[in-house]
Amino acid sequence: MKLLDGKALAQKMQTELAQQVQALQAQNRRPPGLAVLMVGDNPASAAYVRNKERACTAVGIASFGKHFSTETTQEELAQTIEALNQDDRVDGILVQLPLSDHLDSVALLNQIDPDKDADGLHPFNLGRLVRGEPGLRSCTPAGVMRLLQEYQIDCKGKQAVVIGRSILVGKPIALMLLEADATVTIAHSRSHDLTAIAQSADILIAAVGRQNLVTAEMVKPGAVVIDVGINRVTDATGKSRLVGDVDFDAVQQVAGYLTPVPGGVGAMTVTMLLHNTVWSYSQKF
Ligand code: NAP
Repeated sequence: MKLLDGKALAQKMQTELAQQVQALQAQNRRPPGLAVLMVGDNPASAAYVRNKERACTAVGIASFGKHFSTETTQEELAQTIEALNQDDRVDGILVQLPLSDHLDSVALLNQIDPDKDADGLHPFNLGRLVRGEPGLRSCTPAGVMRLLQEYQIDCKGKQAVVIGRSILVGKPIALMLLEADATVTIAHSRSHDLTAIAQSADILIAAVGRQNLVTAEMVKPGAVVIDVGINRVTDATGKSRLVGDVDFDAVQQVAGYLTPVPGGVGAMTVTMLLHNTVWSYSQKF
């Protein structure tokens, strides 16, 4: 079994992005800019936002992050997005999810200028993906595809099974695999005989959020297994750690390639966000 090392690839890509930013900036003067909007003080969201801002600094992207109190209104956020849409220093805008229940995240997402939609979740960009046109792609699925490409895993003609059908992960990954000429099956919570479906996969993607959902029995020998899931678990000593959806110890005996958690897909997501921001920036000049 070969590990698909998302952490190493993310580091390599960030070095390349930093060089690209330096070269573009030498011609265009201003740095690329990313605005991350965060509401409230959810510790997990705060950690993700810190991570994104640190990564921006590392590659030379200016951060225009804004932090709002839990009581902020839909209108205040909408006005902020509108101002950022008009701000020429900003190439990417994203709203850190989840938001509190009183806020309509889809309405806010739809308000982001599609050319600044660094998360690739605006319906316009999802439409471009469906049509196979170039555009901003959602970060986690694009990170998965970049990882496959790095290890020269050709999707053409392969059976791919995606477990999970969310708009954030499962659906866009399935479309990207289709774009790469795989034959794609999407499984979900209502699918019958998940084991049989998974066993047909040359490329198996788990994007559910349930520890040990994918067992060794479900994996075809030699298959490529991509674990998108992130689950926080507490062990017997009370220590908490992150695990994926795949029973890593058992599946590594069967799979041909496997992503670790952490250090696999998660490591790629932030890098694809930086990539998207630099891509938007480069389109303007
Ligand atoms: P989500 O919106 O909750 O979607 C989960 C999907 O899994 C749904 O389509 C659901 O089916 C399906 N599902 C649930 N139980 C199932 C079962 N027993 N068998 C088969 N399918 C089942 O979650 P998400 O946003 O897509 O995220 C999925 C996982 O990826 C989470 O662990 C999340 O933390 C992680 N994630 C990781 C990254 C990263 O950077 N690595 C980024 C985003 C998300 P139904 O549609 O039928 O309900």
